[in-house]
Amino acid sequence: MKVSEIFYSIQGEGKRSGVPSFFIRTNNCNLRCMFTSTNLCDTSYTSWTPDDAMNIGEMSVEEIITEYKKQNVRDVVITGGEPTIQAEELTLLCKELKALSAYITIETNGTIYGDFVEYTDLLSISPKLSSSTPFDTKYEKMHLANRINTEVLKKFNNLNAEGKCDIQWKFVYCKDKDIDEIKELQKSVGFHDDRIYLMPEGVNESDLNERRKETVEMCRKHGYNYTDRLHIIIWGNKRGV
Ligand code: SF4
Repeated sequence: MKVSEIFYSIQGEGKRSGVPSFFIRTNNCNLRCMFTSTNLCDTSYTSWTPDDAMNIGEMSVEEIITEYKKQNVRDVVITGGEPTIQAEELTLLCKELKALSAYITIETNGTIYGDFVEYTDLLSISPKLSSSTPFDTKYEKMHLANRINTEVLKKFNNLNAEGKCDIQWKFVYCKDKDIDEIKELQKSVGFHDDRIYLMPEGVNESDLNERRKETVEMCRKHGYNYTDRLHIIIWGNKRGV
């Protein structure tokens, strides 16, 4: 698998915030998010610059499992980049982890479906809103074409309805127009308010501070959950945490 980094930390976002977890960050992404027209995505070394020399490169599923076994931890978070673009390897990895009784969270932008869902405990789906568009870059068209796949999102949502796996819908909140887009998605895909987590946009503590109160107000107004980004509060915008 193409891997950017693996590390042991705590989950910083969403309903399992604070849970000690082994992170597997896959490399490469089918999107190129740019928030508020200035901030690149917080893991741009997996999307904008996947050739970054600090990325690990290729690791076999066996090698990843060996690293996991060194940590005495049940939770595994498979994140990216976008893990689902390596759907076959991802399924194999999840199958091996499940055999070790791991609790598996997959963090995805929700654009690609696959058999990995059979082994996943929590799907953390983060559809990207138009506020993520990299305007005036060579990736703008590609990003717009891939950003939302309603049919795939519906398939994910059905898993939750059928009780096959837990799902949280996590949105980066930049501005109040984002709420209209979330409501539109809810209408077309069918997920409920109590499954939604709004997260302030920001890759450092001062950005987060600026948007935190507004994000909480939006959660109160619309009955959504709030999630912070604990790893940024604790360590700042660093790799491997
Ligand atoms: S989908 Fe995630 S990893 Fe990919 S560019 Fe957007 S924020 Fe970055």
